[in-house]
Amino acid sequence: MTENICTQCGNKHVIIHRKYNGQRLCSNCFKDSIEKQVLKTVKKEKLVTKGDKVLVGLSGGKDSVALLKILNILKEKNIIELEAVTIDEGISGYREEGVRIAKETAAQLNIKHHIVSFKDKYNFTIDRIMEEEMKEKNPQHACTYCGVFRRQIFNQVARDVKATKLATGHNLDDETQSILMNYMEGNVNNMVRIGYKTQSSDERFTQKIKPLRKIPEKEIGLYVLESGFEVHFDGCPYAHESFRMEVGDFLRETTLKHPTMMYSILNGFEKIKPAIKKDYMANKTGLPNGTCEICGEPASQKICKSCKFLEKIHEKIGE
Ligand code: SF4
Ligand code: ZN
Repeated sequence: MTENICTQCGNKHVIIHRKYNGQRLCSNCFKDSIEKQVLKTVKKEKLVTKGDKVLVGLSGGKDSVALLKILNILKEKNIIELEAVTIDEGISGYREEGVRIAKETAAQLNIKHHIVSFKDKYNFTIDRIMEEEMKEKNPQHACTYCGVFRRQIFNQVARDVKATKLATGHNLDDETQSILMNYMEGNVNNMVRIGYKTQSSDERFTQKIKPLRKIPEKEIGLYVLESGFEVHFDGCPYAHESFRMEVGDFLRETTLKHPTMMYSILNGFEKIKPAIKKDYMANKTGLPNGTCEICGEPASQKICKSCKFLEKIHEKIGE
C-alpha cells in the first residue's frame, strides 16, 4: 500500500495529495517543496539578482507572510536586502488585525517595516469613501479607488527606500483569475502585462515581481498553518462584491473536477503571450511615460488617475 505514504520520504503522516501531479507529501516534505518551488521560480525567471533590495507588500495575510518568510531565506544567505510595507486603507474590522500581524512578523524576522495609511496620506479611509459612494445611484466599487491608491503608495515607498524590486504575494489562483477576467472583458492591454515581473523602461517604476505565482492558494494556506505562522485569513469585506470573486469561485469549482486546470491556464497563457504582445503592443508604449501636472507621479494623461479620484473624493466628503 503506497496510498498514505509520503512520495518523497516514506513518512506515513501524509498531509496533502496533489491531484495535479500525484504527489503525496508529509508536512516537512510539503513545506520543503513549497520553498524549493518558490526559490526555483525566483532563479528561473531571474526575479532577483545578488544585491537587490526587495520591498515586500505585507498585508499580514497568508500570501504575503509566506512570501516574506521564503524571501528571508535569500536575505539570510546575504543574496538580497529585504524590507516590507503595509498599507492601511482604513477598512475597519479587517485591516487592524493584518497590520498587527505584519508588524509582528517583520519584527520577528528583523526586517525594516513601513506602514502607510490612507488616512495619514490622503485624509480619508476606504470606509469613508464607501459611505458616500453608497448614496449614489451607481456606486463605484471599493477596489476601483483602493487599487489606484495602493499602487501609488507601493510605488512611492519603493522609490523612497530605493528598493530595486517590489514583491507581491500573488498566487496561482490570483494569476489565473486575472488571465480569465481579462479574456472575458476583452482587455488585451491589461492581459499582456500579466507575468512574473513587470517590464518598464521608466525608472520611476520599481520592477514588480511575483515569486508565488505558481503556488495554488490552498497550498499557501497549508504552508503557513504547517509552519505555525500567525496570519489572518479573513477576506476584505468589500471583496465579495467583485467580478474577481465570481471568476475565482468558477475556477475553484472547475478545478475540483479538473485538477490541472489552473496550471493549464497559466502555462497556455505564457505560451501565447509573446505572440499577443508582439502584435498588440507594436504601437503601444505600455506603461505611462508622462508626468501628472498635479502630483508629478507617472501618468499617461495630464492628470493621473489618483489625482482625478482625489479631487472627486474630496468634493464628495468635503475634507
Ligand atoms: Fe482594497 Fe478591494 Fe483589496 Fe479590499 S479587496 S483591500 S477594497 S483592493
Ligand atoms: Zn497625480
